[in-house]
Amino acid sequence: MRPLTEVAPGVLVATAEKYTTTSTVIVGPGAACLVVDPALMPAEVAGLAAELAARGLQPVAGWSTHPHWDHVLWSAELGDVPRYATPRAAQTAEHERDGLIEGVTESAPGHDLELFARLTPLPADHVPWEGPVAQILAHDAHEAGHGALFISGAGTLLAGDMLSDLEIPLLYEGSPDPVGQYRAGLDLLAGVQDVRVLVPGHGHVGDGAEFRRRLDADRRYLDALERGAPAAGQDERIGNDWLRAEHDRQFRLLHR
Ligand SMILES: [Zn+2]
Repeated sequence: MRPLTEVAPGVLVATAEKYTTTSTVIVGPGAACLVVDPALMPAEVAGLAAELAARGLQPVAGWSTHPHWDHVLWSAELGDVPRYATPRAAQTAEHERDGLIEGVTESAPGHDLELFARLTPLPADHVPWEGPVAQILAHDAHEAGHGALFISGAGTLLAGDMLSDLEIPLLYEGSPDPVGQYRAGLDLLAGVQDVRVLVPGHGHVGDGAEFRRRLDADRRYLDALERGAPAAGQDERIGNDWLRAEHDRQFRLLHR
């Protein structure tokens, strides 16, 4: 885990080794902070908690962008505070709990399963806390009830598992119209004014130009995927066997 880096005023990001997974911390007034998707291995989450303590920061709430195992982690050291998610995401985390536990046990064993994937449904436009306004952007791309956050004061979009420089769009296959839903999610994010810093759930932090570049790249991938064009499979982000398999599966889903 690389230590927390300030990517925008009051926005700190740490990046885990596995899947280049990001953890984000929004600094509020006093010692308060909001922790988004802390990840990934138990030692890394513990390290994050230790670094917050060393900086004198105290988590007052968490936010989970979506109910996949790598985005619903927590540790006792981060404190007994509400970990919000969209209502749909919180519901899914509960319904799919067994599968989530299977995923984390296989890929990142050793987390406290009592604290794992315990989300508080938040039917709101903003995360309720004293710190910088964190606007919730809920959509059904990648997963139903996926909630990105926009920290308007810092011009920072926490995109969750969208707009990655390392991953192609990964569809929510539970949807009757996965590509349409994905496009709607991208459109929602594209409508956010004044994004100056983009933090993807996996991959590297980008600036405003990079935000628009990734929107284009994701839309180009979806266009090609939908047409059944070979260009989809040539997306430069398909750099490993896992993503190749994901792409092949998505291709088959649309063209069977
Ligand atoms: Zn993820």
